[in-house]
Amino acid sequence: ICWSARGGWHRPRVQPYGPIALDPAAAVLHYGQEIFEGIKAYRHADGSIHTFRPEHNARRLQRSARRLALPELPVEYFLQSLRELVAVDGDWVPSGADQSLYLRPFMFAKEAFLGVRPAQKVAYYLIASPAGAYFTGGVKPVSIWLSEDYARAGRGGTGAAKTGGNYAASLLPQSEAYEKGCDQVVFLDADGNVEELGGMNVVFVTKDGTLVTPQSESILEGITRDSILQLAQDRGHRVERRAVPLPEWRDGVASGDIVEVFACGTAAVVTPIGVLKAAGFEDVQPTGTLALELRGHLTDIQYGRAEDTHGWLTRLDA
Ligand code: PMP
Repeated sequence: ICWSARGGWHRPRVQPYGPIALDPAAAVLHYGQEIFEGIKAYRHADGSIHTFRPEHNARRLQRSARRLALPELPVEYFLQSLRELVAVDGDWVPSGADQSLYLRPFMFAKEAFLGVRPAQKVAYYLIASPAGAYFTGGVKPVSIWLSEDYARAGRGGTGAAKTGGNYAASLLPQSEAYEKGCDQVVFLDADGNVEELGGMNVVFVTKDGTLVTPQSESILEGITRDSILQLAQDRGHRVERRAVPLPEWRDGVASGDIVEVFACGTAAVVTPIGVLKAAGFEDVQPTGTLALELRGHLTDIQYGRAEDTHGWLTRLDA
């Protein structure tokens, strides 16, 4: 579907997968005016196809759009794009355990204009790809590298938006993490508080059963995190969303006040953090059972094996 400042949203259509023709002066290629989402479609045992809290992705795309001076796609158009894709490509939604069809909605400035100003012509696309189980042979704890030299987003920047530039900024620190023998990188925010991983939010479990997750204006508000925290609250756990200074993490692990650390996002759902490495520092992280229990509950809801008490599922094929 296309958008122009004069005509608004127009020309919704389904077309065969293939290259996009772009003018070499298209604004997205020069100024990175681009946003996206990540969401999955799940096949239930009866064959029906469902997605998870899609209106949250739609609204997050709108928030990202505002920050990137792009037009807001109406929620209903977003949902319609998911339904139409599944109507033609529903056979691609796999039925294996932990498998899904990964959906990638994205929007970019296609106007050919080299001046720096919000583009007057924009395109919204949705593509999809079958995704196998993220973990084979059981969920494995990840090791993470603390990036103290690089940030993915600064104060007043685009951290809370899902825009390509944040991911571009995370590539070098992510390579640094690999060089240090780690799977992922964890960033600090502008105040030196724990922020998030390149593509996942972080949650700490304290010994009294409280779940603490970093809050700042530069964190991407994860839908998985919100859901996991809700499920924990349903079980009577307390939840705190607040700034988490780095020393609180280190001291909490050392004193035994923090009993579990995990990361969460659409791709891996929930993964325990097994090791935190930083320059001159390595710390094995405590592991427990809560992260995996909550992961099990959430995936049971997503795959239709547990009751969807919060009304989180949206059927896409009917
Ligand atoms: N933080 C970042 C930077 C991400 O890219 C993602 C993945 N979208 C998340 C957190 C987790 O968000 P969600 O649970 O909505 O996938």
